[in-house]
Amino acid sequence: MNNEILPHEEVINDTLNHFSGKFENIFHQDNYDHYRSAIHDTLDLVGTFLHRNDKPFSGIEAKTMKKMVQHIDLNQKLSSYEEVLKEVDEIYVQHATAFHLPQYVAHLNCPIVIPALAGEILVSAINSSQDTYDQSAGGTFMERKLIDWTAERLGYTTESDGVFTAGGSQSNLMGLVMMRDVFSQKNLNHNIKQDGLPPEASRFRIFISDKAHFSNSKNASIMGLGEKSIVKVPTDNEFRMDITMLQKYMKREILLGNIPIGIIATAGTTDFGNVDPLEDIANIAAQHNIWMHVDAAYGCALLLSAKYRHLLNGIEKADSVTIDYHKSFFQPISSSAFIVKNKRELRILKHHADYLNPAEMDEEEIPAQINKSIIQSTRRFDALKLWFTLRMMGQEQLAEYTDRIIDLTKDVAEMITENQEFELLTHTDLSVLVFRYLRSDIEDLNALNLHVKMKLFYSGEILVASTKVDGQFYLKFTFLNPITTTEDVHQILNTIKKHGEDFGTTN
Ligand SMILES: *Cc1c(COP(=O)(O)O)cnc(C)c1O
Repeated sequence: MNNEILPHEEVINDTLNHFSGKFENIFHQDNYDHYRSAIHDTLDLVGTFLHRNDKPFSGIEAKTMKKMVQHIDLNQKLSSYEEVLKEVDEIYVQHATAFHLPQYVAHLNCPIVIPALAGEILVSAINSSQDTYDQSAGGTFMERKLIDWTAERLGYTTESDGVFTAGGSQSNLMGLVMMRDVFSQKNLNHNIKQDGLPPEASRFRIFISDKAHFSNSKNASIMGLGEKSIVKVPTDNEFRMDITMLQKYMKREILLGNIPIGIIATAGTTDFGNVDPLEDIANIAAQHNIWMHVDAAYGCALLLSAKYRHLLNGIEKADSVTIDYHKSFFQPISSSAFIVKNKRELRILKHHADYLNPAEMDEEEIPAQINKSIIQSTRRFDALKLWFTLRMMGQEQLAEYTDRIIDLTKDVAEMITENQEFELLTHTDLSVLVFRYLRSDIEDLNALNLHVKMKLFYSGEILVASTKVDGQFYLKFTFLNPITTTEDVHQILNTIKKHGEDFGTTN
């Protein structure tokens, strides 16, 4: 009689067969062989990417690229990894920018370190979510430990706290939100989280240098303060915030009836790699009793360097700091953090969701990083990549890389200065050089240098960036690769010269 209730052996086997057929794509112990071979095949394509590349870019034009992608029918699935990898190679990998080559000297994209990539395998496979303890356990405490480690390097005490974010723009947004909400709470006794913006908000003013990152203006606009709330203070001749001008601009805004709520200093501007005078700015913020945020998305590299750490003196006085490990710690995207000096102030961001972090939950007993995150709920365990990096390399090796990069930049700056055919615009604290190619017979230097840049881009041999200063077009090197040598840069300058000499003869 029992036979009729219990399933037969065939039925059980049948179910299992059915399972392994239909669910072979689910990450699960029965499918480990599938996972392994898929990763293995994909790794081979990584190998191809590395070995095939001798230049940072294929030079493909956007309209060709667009056609190649457009013509693919997503409703028609492919039958093997081999086919998928072949397709992805053709429309992506072959043309992807190779940031690890010394000929890539364009934007703030660092080469990445192998320990972080090993960590990445676990991040994506185990797929913890960092919002609450019950979705990450050890991950929560490892992230907190890395935040504390970073805070210690900033010179913060155990009163500090923070959270990993998707990037510097998001960390800057957190800095601005804290600045705005803490100001309102303290000075207007107004809770923005509860009650929205106070009437005074239209007069809130935030001071940044005119070379600060554009994300700050964007952030002010999404926060309902409007871009007008951002007051851009002129920089001195080394493109650092001019302190006399800062005081002047603050006085002017107050006379106009506006309300300074904070200052954002940049430690390492995107275009020039210079650090604003942090000590002076901290003093001024303290005099006005307003928030100071430091955007150290790029300059955070200096935190580890015994040789150059002094350039960040004063950062410990800031109320909050943006760190981009994916700019300056050789980490794969995304890896960033927002750190605040006084953890009590972070509570201003806290929201309670009954299903995640109910109000009665004891924060110390059952910690939830979501309490500190303003945008992301479900969030990757990106911190694990930095964990692997520190445990394998130690901060000393990271610091060595940074020192090498800065030293290389100093050598190249000298090289450019000594060469009559080039003009170097300014000094850098970090590793950006803004310069242009000169030809005595050419008056339109903008056209000449734009020509050079486009030639380089479409040949794919070298990728440089560019920027405009006072209406003049300049080329820009950003060095982030410790492997790059002065000889590599010498070759790059020669290629620039070659294209510069062609200007006016070809097209
Ligand atoms: C890159 C950069 C940012 C933005 O960081 P993302 O990680 O790209 O969002 C902010 N500030 C500075 C100075 C930067 O260079």
